[in-house]
Amino acid sequence: MNSFQLRNVHLFNAQSVSDERPVQLNVRQGRIEDVAEELPHATGPVIDMQGHYASAGWIDGHAHVYYGATDIGLLPDEIGLCTGVHLVVDAGSAGEANFRGLHDLVIQASETDVLAYLNTGVIGLVAANRVSEYVKMELMDLGRMLEVAEQYRSVIRGIKVRVSGVIVDTMGMEVLEQAQQVAEAAKLPLVIHVGETPPELPQILRALEPGTLVTHCYHGKSTNSVLEAPYRRAMQEAAERGVLLDVGHGEASFSYAAADVCVQENILPFSISTDLHRRNRGGPVWDLPTTMTKMLHVGLSLRQVIDCVTANPAQFLGEPQRGEVRIGAEANLTLFSLADVRASVADSNGHERTLTKAVTPTAVVRKGVFQPLCSGSLAAPLYGGLLR
Ligand SMILES: [Zn+2]
Repeated sequence: MNSFQLRNVHLFNAQSVSDERPVQLNVRQGRIEDVAEELPHATGPVIDMQGHYASAGWIDGHAHVYYGATDIGLLPDEIGLCTGVHLVVDAGSAGEANFRGLHDLVIQASETDVLAYLNTGVIGLVAANRVSEYVKMELMDLGRMLEVAEQYRSVIRGIKVRVSGVIVDTMGMEVLEQAQQVAEAAKLPLVIHVGETPPELPQILRALEPGTLVTHCYHGKSTNSVLEAPYRRAMQEAAERGVLLDVGHGEASFSYAAADVCVQENILPFSISTDLHRRNRGGPVWDLPTTMTKMLHVGLSLRQVIDCVTANPAQFLGEPQRGEVRIGAEANLTLFSLADVRASVADSNGHERTLTKAVTPTAVVRKGVFQPLCSGSLAAPLYGGLLR
């Protein structure tokens, strides 16, 4: 069905209407024909979305979907359209030695759109956190990385580097400096994972150019965490200089307490992402809507949460049109509700909070076609059944 009317929907990311009042949206042959509080005619069957919201298609800017070639890889479609996510970004699962497989066997084969960041570690995350991608720094080959970045420019949108103790060990800042050289030469933005020491977080942050994306910004690990005021100040100063903060929830990288205090002090995320992989999809991450729910819980407005999974990551990826709902464009939307729930949901430190509102995807409009989501949320077990 690619000609229809959505009715009674609160619409985000549209310049012509506010999200505060319900609107009608006409789709004709897959394109958005018109949006207004009252339209003179319907382009096809009317779908009443009473009580629902719609936005540009959601983007998960940090996940791991190099299935089979890395021990943590999921399939993009497991965490994509079925949870309202139109675009998944693989955050450095592949390095220059094995990027071809990610492109040919995963990106090309998935219904969900996939883009990627190229890991500066030659082998990427083949055996994540067991074999460091920087196991032999002398293997790093700038020429080969640039070749791969050029060959796959249509899908590589950033350079990824992990700068935390277990990964860089004694190499410290050298890994970051090399990645900055690669990013600059490839004319791509840098995406940097932070975690425990070494190096010290303020030292890392001071070295970053504006426009660099820092993922795991609210981690609550034993060192380098924004739970401690000096690290928070360093994060705030970096953000004020134009460094962009990404949630990147992950198995070990999201603390409610850290997010709470940062949101209170206006140290806000630019993007909300999951860092979903095989070891955290059954909790504590579950899916993107659950990470969005957690950010709503710590005090972001729904509009802020939506911008963090639409307009902001779309801009970072160089595809701003993905983050807007525009008349004349192909219709790509995520439809969702805010379900009333009462559930204890843990962060990466095992600390539970009682959540009372869950962002719940109910349908997507994908390439102009309306598709209800049958499976409910991947986090449904948390809420005692299917969430619709
Ligand atoms: Zn990751």
